Amino acid sequence: MPRPPKSVDPAVSRRMIGNRSSNTKPEQRMRSLLCELGYRGYRLNVRKLPGRPDIVFVTKRIAIFVNGCFWHRCPKCNYGTPKTNAEYWQTKFATNRARDRRNLRELRRLGFRVLSVWECEVLKDESRLKRKIKALFAQ
Ligand SMILES: [Zn+2]
Repeated sequence: MPRPPKSVDPAVSRRMIGNRSSNTKPEQRMRSLLCELGYRGYRLNVRKLPGRPDIVFVTKRIAIFVNGCFWHRCPKCNYGTPKTNAEYWQTKFATNRARDRRNLRELRRLGFRVLSVWECEVLKDESRLKRKIKALFAQ
């Protein structure tokens, strides 16, 4: 993976080089939704699992990802590619997407049910999200 362009904000750059960011506002919202629905006993950012899922119910084998719309290329938000260093960004985004798909496959192979949600869904479409969560646990 090429290094991020120098012009990028150091905090952003750290996030890009390292792993997924954690404890973002959408993640916090997701956790309070789970709490409201009575689903407790999860673990956060489980490093030993593929993709380090944000929220994991270990014994139920459920993994939840809250994906940032920009980094993971949400189709709804449809953020454009930054004009500066466009080639770098295209590679970066393609790599992110490929990694997301690979992690999903590996988790399923390990017997996990996986829910991936976009941060915009968490922040804007709560009732739909609640239905999704309930469906996930009802399986
Ligand atoms: Zn989005």
